[in-house]
Amino acid sequence: MLISVVIPFYNEQENIDELYRRLISIFNKHNNYNFEIIAVNDGSKDDTLNRLKNYKLKDKRIKIVDLSRNFGHQIAISAGISFSKGNAVVILDADLQDPPELIPEFINKWREGFEVVYGIREKRKENIFKKVCYYLFYRILQSISHVNIPLDSGDCCLMDKKVVDILRNIPERNRFIRGIRSWIGYRQVGIRYERGCRYAGQPKYTILKLIKLALDGAISFSHFPLRVSSLLGILISIISFLIGIILIIKRLIYGSLVYGLTSIIVSVLFIGGIQLIAIGIIGEYIGRIYDETKQRPIFIVKEVIE
Ligand code: UDP
Ligand code: MG
Repeated sequence: MLISVVIPFYNEQENIDELYRRLISIFNKHNNYNFEIIAVNDGSKDDTLNRLKNYKLKDKRIKIVDLSRNFGHQIAISAGISFSKGNAVVILDADLQDPPELIPEFINKWREGFEVVYGIREKRKENIFKKVCYYLFYRILQSISHVNIPLDSGDCCLMDKKVVDILRNIPERNRFIRGIRSWIGYRQVGIRYERGCRYAGQPKYTILKLIKLALDGAISFSHFPLRVSSLLGILISIISFLIGIILIIKRLIYGSLVYGLTSIIVSVLFIGGIQLIAIGIIGEYIGRIYDETKQRPIFIVKEVIE
């Protein structure tokens, strides 16, 4: 049985030694399995690639997939998956926030018959702002999504080859892997784990990248944002209709009425704002439709070192 461990690296030079040390100690303890490490270099600008290559010289189980530039976490994972050969594929972050010690637990559940075993992040060690955002995001996503995406599940998981083969053939460009994984189905189970701090270095997800990921999740798995504008439209129409009737009645009783500059300005700005938001929401969908129709490859591989 071969287990592939896919790890995306973007400027993670400080984490490689410790990550390798901990992975190898797991591999040695479970030598009834064969392992391969698929290290995806997602356009790192530091010494990541060289250090990976040094390890590769020592350890044949490492395979390096070097992307032509920085494509982002979700795509780096997809690239790694597409080069994996294992009977099961494990996805981990390079910063050791997903402890490699989870691998044996994942494998046990997989051997029990689950095709997907995903990690549920129990205690996050992030700042309070990020924690609140993550908390809200997963709950809002679950309530609007047409797929049941488990709360607080990240990309860290094990997937059986069957699931990996399906994932590999999904051509979506704005990928939200934890959502697609749930959408694929089969028997899935979550394992709770404590998500620790980054071992070294700064987070590579900027706020903008996180917002993009959140939008990809919400937009790929829900039509609710599109409906919000219709709902708001209906609501505002009803309110305007009622105000209209009140004004007509007042006009009939009191004769001509001249007042209300403030209310005109407020209502024009209010409706204008809502219209722009609605156009923006539609734009988010159209932008993604545009990305899909261009049919560009999802990633470009500069070199594979096997
Ligand atoms: N990562 C990547 N490309 C990027 C950003 C991140 O491959 O453009 C990798 C990064 O090296 C790490 C993983 O994705 O292995 C998670 O990134 P990070 O720790 O910054 O995310 P967070 O833990 O804050 O969600
Ligand atoms: Mg991290």
